[in-house]
Amino acid sequence: MNKHLTTVAGVAVDTRHWIAGRRVASTGTFPDASPIDGSTLGDIARGTATEADAAVAAAKAAFPGWAATSRAERARILHAIADGVEKRLEELAIVETTDNGALLRSHRRGVMPRVAHNFRFFADWLLTLEHGDFETRGHSNHVSWDPAGPCVLITPWNAPLMLATWKVAPALAAGNTVVLKPAEWSPLTASLLADIAAEAGLPAGVLNVVQGYGSEIGDALTSHPDVRRISFTGSVPTARRIAASAAANLTPLSLELGGKSPLLVFADADLDLAVDLAVEQYDNAGQVCLAATRFLVEESVADEFTRRFVEKASSLTQGDPRDEATDIGPNIHPRQLEKIDGFVQRALAAGARAVIGGHPKEGQYYAPTLLTDVAQDSEIVQEEVFGPVLTLQTFADEEEAIRLANDTRFGLAATLATGDPERAERVTAQLVAGTVWVNCFFVRDLQAPFGGSRLSGVGREGGTWSFDFYCDVKNTVTAPNGWTNHG
Ligand code: NAD
Repeated sequence: MNKHLTTVAGVAVDTRHWIAGRRVASTGTFPDASPIDGSTLGDIARGTATEADAAVAAAKAAFPGWAATSRAERARILHAIADGVEKRLEELAIVETTDNGALLRSHRRGVMPRVAHNFRFFADWLLTLEHGDFETRGHSNHVSWDPAGPCVLITPWNAPLMLATWKVAPALAAGNTVVLKPAEWSPLTASLLADIAAEAGLPAGVLNVVQGYGSEIGDALTSHPDVRRISFTGSVPTARRIAASAAANLTPLSLELGGKSPLLVFADADLDLAVDLAVEQYDNAGQVCLAATRFLVEESVADEFTRRFVEKASSLTQGDPRDEATDIGPNIHPRQLEKIDGFVQRALAAGARAVIGGHPKEGQYYAPTLLTDVAQDSEIVQEEVFGPVLTLQTFADEEEAIRLANDTRFGLAATLATGDPERAERVTAQLVAGTVWVNCFFVRDLQAPFGGSRLSGVGREGGTWSFDFYCDVKNTVTAPNGWTNHG
């Protein structure tokens, strides 16, 4: 019996790092618990600077070979990884649900197919990347996307494999090598990804996975002089630490951070649609960076909107995320639950009113909450909660709606419900957000730019933007007689 293997919902998962095509243990471990019932799922390798250095060295050693691999071959291997994801889709779905508590039905039908699609999309996009050749006074300009080198990819727990592969796939497609550091609260599917990539024929050292607490292994990764790109998804405080650490080598960063996005509901909107969009914000127990957590509703329809919202939200089923009938699962960790409740209790103490919820429930669950009577400058309106906690404010006119929508330090997304196309155009032009959805929510095409403004992030990924980030873009200018030797 391999003491480094743990069995989660019948699936064997290796708890060690994956470095240079080998499993590597650490002297220490940390416990990984399921949010469903608090049970320990495994003792995970607790990485330190030693493993960080080994993983970056492996990525550096594998880089020349992978960078020189033809685009067609890289694309073939990425498709083989996607095949492996699809073959193990059920296993990935149940392990992810057990590890992070998000709904099994979402993992089966939406998330894990999307993980496979991440690899297929960037494999195909790689083959169609345009090289924008053009002329300058007879000279030819040739733009190329050259692989940049080893990339450190650091990901959060709310959509572990989806967010990891959204970075891993373009980084590998671009010809780079990778050190992936998943979040310590949901480390398991990254380990399965290492197995799948190896089975698909990805050469040793091209993808490395290191486990551990960010505070212990993070700095060694992000300050490493051999790392050529850092892509991070997570919280603003961690982003600040990573930026400071990356500053030593001026390592280029992509930062996908938190949000406090608005849902604007105008009186001319289809109110049933608006309520559907509003209730969707409880998805993943509110642990979604893009969630429109601030409802801004035109005064004349606010009562009716609230009535219909409460009716619909009250019909949601909260419970075991493995159950097909469940709409809202547990929150990730007791510490997260405490944090959520802290926000709510401080808001209530400051005069907010809980229209629904406002308290934790038995186990690791928080009652879906809607708070009204909240001030624009209050903590609950300004700070990201990352739980099933929404606020509702009203506005008198379009100008006020836009002012309130833009009045936070974030700028990740915005959603608006309106029946007036001209209003939609006017309002979206004035919203500060990386993504705006009009009469819809969460429609995400991988070729679209994705990222946030203000404290919600730095840079954009997606489609060609991903290759711009993960590559050293080079312009080569050749003289008209460039192939002669003047002789
Ligand atoms: P976090 O910042 O606590 O942790 C994210 C990752 O950073 C983890 O892997 C962690 O181990 C690592 N880390 C921690 N300290 C580090 C350090 N000093 N150096 C290097 N790495 C370190 O975030 P979280 O709580 O896991 O995730 C929730 C946050 O992520 C929320 O703010 C949410 O909005 C944001 N998020 C953003 C997006 C997006 O695309 N914009 C998507 C999902 C989540």
